[in-house]
Amino acid sequence: MTTKPTSDAASGWDQATYRCGRCGVKHTVTTEDAYLKTVGVHSDAHTVWDRLNPIERDGLVSILRTILSAPDLAVELLALADRQHLTGGGTQPPPAVPGKNTPQPDSSPSNTTARATE
Ligand SMILES: [Zn+2]
Repeated sequence: MTTKPTSDAASGWDQATYRCGRCGVKHTVTTEDAYLKTVGVHSDAHTVWDRLNPIERDGLVSILRTILSAPDLAVELLALADRQHLTGGGTQPPPAVPGKNTPQPDSSPSNTTARATE
């Protein structure tokens, strides 16, 4: 990925404004490359948005806000997901580790209710 400055003389214009006919958003760009990229990305966004239902849109927006505010978290989540795919994780949750400072009594009521469901 390189950011190469495009000379204005080559493209023949100083800046251009892209206005979306569907949502009315405006983007002013100063290079032809940026213009083409802006139009392409915005068009892709509409395509993705159109395929989602309102619940999915809410979820996606929530995820994007989290990820965009913490890019490192996104990288770690993807790495975690890849690791889970490789190890087949998710089907076998890790065993619960009781707290070291709070010993659990053997006669806990949760054991009784768990046995009743079998
Ligand atoms: Zn639009």
